[in-house]
Amino acid sequence: MPELPEVETIKNQIAPHLPVKVTSVEYSDVSSSIIKDQEFNPKGREFTSIERRGKVLLLNFEKGLVAISGLGMSGGWRVSPKKISEKHTHIQLSCKKENGDKIYFGYVDPRRFGNIHFFKSIGAKKWLTRLGADVSKAEFTADYIYSRCQKHPGKAIKAFLLEQNHFAGVGNYMASEICAHAGILPDRLNKNISQKDAQKLLEATAIVLEGTVSSGGTTFSGGYKDTTGSQGEGVKNLVVFYQEVCRMCGRTKVLKTILKGRGTYHCPRCQK
Ligand SMILES: [Zn+2]
Repeated sequence: MPELPEVETIKNQIAPHLPVKVTSVEYSDVSSSIIKDQEFNPKGREFTSIERRGKVLLLNFEKGLVAISGLGMSGGWRVSPKKISEKHTHIQLSCKKENGDKIYFGYVDPRRFGNIHFFKSIGAKKWLTRLGADVSKAEFTADYIYSRCQKHPGKAIKAFLLEQNHFAGVGNYMASEICAHAGILPDRLNKNISQKDAQKLLEATAIVLEGTVSSGGTTFSGGYKDTTGSQGEGVKNLVVFYQEVCRMCGRTKVLKTILKGRGTYHCPRCQK
């Protein structure tokens, strides 16, 4: 499932191509399960810019129209100078660059859990209020983490990190990795997270993001691909997730548990 590093990679790969003019839009016969607002039709408009907030992409079109693209389990965007013929391309924007060259943006999603909401800018702003602080931005601070934990004292920290209304951008592998780098057991309750721990969680998040964003995202068992169809190399930087031996101490067997229904990994030596 694409998490912040993967969505950031897609955004960074699309951004240099903009702005472009949308000349036509094509949908597959199953795209209606993905497009939540039937009036989504940017044909004739300029596709001006792209942003990311948490795990969602914001595609900005002229006159303040915004498409919010959530990638679900297996969604992604492709960019190509030729029409995209990859299987499971549910939406294709045919566009023209300022120099007249054609360019295509395709939303590809084999498992179809992704979704696209289409808004006027005010509606998009309102929709985005459901998200908490983006964990890659300055609004995400140790005080923020500490106060959120205090408000939800009975929750386990790793499962809590997955809640997008608190920590936008964190997904399952990131949450295990953040706890590992912070030296905190995944099932530690929020009430036992001190201010010092909150600082450690903040620093750990920065380490995880640095290692995964710089390597183009992280791919597990055939999931995420970037806009060129390549898999990210971020998996090389993981210290506990999907690992046999902890890569922080280099000698302890990583334990896998299920926490709130999600596979969770930790090192019993490095994490307390
Ligand atoms: Zn260890």
